Amino acid sequence: MSSTEPSTDWLDALEQTLSAGSVLRPGRDDLEAYETEWRGRYHAKALAVIRPDSTQALSEVVKACTQARVAMVPQGGNTGLVGGAVARGEREEVVVQLGRMKSIRRVDVASSLMVAEAGVPVSVAQDEALAQGLRLAVDLASSQSATIGGILATNAGGVLTIAYGNTRAQVLGIEAVLADGQILNDLSEVRKDNTGYSIKDVLVGSEGTLGFITAASLSLVPAPKVSATAWVGVESVAQALDVLQAIRQDLSDHLRAFELIPALAVELVLKARAEQGLSTRAILDAACPWQVLIAIDSADAAAPLEERLMDSLMRIYEAGGIGDVVVAQSQADAEAMWVIRESISDAQQVEGVALKHDISIPTPSFGEFIDDTQAGLVKIVPGIRLCAFGHLADGNLHFNLVPPAGHPRSLVEHEPAIVEYVFDQVQRFRGSISAEHGVGMLRRDALAERSDPSKLWAMRQIKQALDPEGLFNPGKIL
Ligand SMILES: Cc1cc2nc3c(=O)[nH]c(=O)nc-3n(C[C@H](O)[C@H](O)[C@H](O)COP(=O)(O)OP(=O)(O)OC[C@H]3O[C@@H](n4cnc5c(N)ncnc54)[C@H](O)[C@@H]3O)c2cc1C
Repeated sequence: MSSTEPSTDWLDALEQTLSAGSVLRPGRDDLEAYETEWRGRYHAKALAVIRPDSTQALSEVVKACTQARVAMVPQGGNTGLVGGAVARGEREEVVVQLGRMKSIRRVDVASSLMVAEAGVPVSVAQDEALAQGLRLAVDLASSQSATIGGILATNAGGVLTIAYGNTRAQVLGIEAVLADGQILNDLSEVRKDNTGYSIKDVLVGSEGTLGFITAASLSLVPAPKVSATAWVGVESVAQALDVLQAIRQDLSDHLRAFELIPALAVELVLKARAEQGLSTRAILDAACPWQVLIAIDSADAAAPLEERLMDSLMRIYEAGGIGDVVVAQSQADAEAMWVIRESISDAQQVEGVALKHDISIPTPSFGEFIDDTQAGLVKIVPGIRLCAFGHLADGNLHFNLVPPAGHPRSLVEHEPAIVEYVFDQVQRFRGSISAEHGVGMLRRDALAERSDPSKLWAMRQIKQALDPEGLFNPGKIL
């Protein structure tokens, strides 16, 4: 070791105290995956990747890093979309990946709750709940890889938010490792607990900047026994919102997903899947510019949901509120619909480099926001294409922009102007520049420029109080 290289004696000592395989040192081929954001947008070398296998072991890691003044980057499934789970490369950092903490400590059917460790993949927790007749009311296209710790740390949304709220709404209690390695034992199992500040609510959505979430007690809901799914074509976003209103009136107790999908997204999915050798059909025959995937379900096995959804949609159709409609006749039909919806994120790359935003707008204004913003965007890049899709009922769309056909990199040079314009529009319509993905590195500067100064002040006070040495995920959010 040259005299200018940092000492890693502390890491050697830590390695001795942790179980075998906990410390992955530079030079291994498998480190790349932990050091690179999954889209490849961010990459930085870490001093090491540490994979503790228990809360106690993680506490030792935090103590050792604190003594050595080395920063720690929490990582779960690394599916985050804002550059939160990888190092920044500006100082000595370790990535602490929680994938080995993957035990579901218990499922309590009588209390409808589950206690799961941070590294449990969301889909595993979902399956475990289902096996007990219950449902974890969070679902994302990334559920196979995203972890319980990750969805808490980002307060993830997803397709079920419309019915059950964001991840925060499912959290009863938290276990965490905080500054200096102290362990917060607050795995509460009660639904009412007003004993002072809600520390769990401070940690949920903190993106690893205040400590490590190691486990959570999560509220579960009854598992669905019947479901119905439909795909609807409409002329405009305003018309999609009318359909939402009507469905809410008829079936509000059962509504589980209401996903807006532009015709362009369907076109890109079919093209991308064809390039992968997968044959996929569009759901609708009619050429409708906007489409909606609607899912309803019920824990009552006798509920005639398909009939009720069909009746409701036929009434809207007959009143001229829908251009075309297909109701799934089988589980396979419903799955075919979801495959299209869940392929949209990746499919956009077939046309080149897309610019992606995750915004929310007060729902009634969405139609006007889209028309107005689109008109402004074509002035910046003629031919730019809007691929805005997602959770319309939550007022949250992935407001993505696809380059003009045949010009795959044409948005890249205009990125700053486009992002500035979209965020100005979001503020003008009183929305949020990050609805569900968080801030990470990607939206940090925009947050600083656009947030209420008192909100930023309060956030900095919390950060200073809970992370006085600035070692938890520095450079993210703030
Ligand atoms: C195809 C696809 C679809 C997606 N759909 C949605 C969607 O519908 N809704 C949505 O909200 N998001 C969505 N996402 C984004 C992403 O899946 C979520 O943000 C998810 O919650 C991240 O979980 P993760 O385990 O991968 O966390 P990571 O990406 O590993 O980490 C995310 C952030 O949380 C921190 N963190 C992770 N684990 C811990 C922990 N145990 N303690 C403290 N901090 C921690 C990290 O430091 C980082 O800041 C999608 C992503 C993809 C790729």
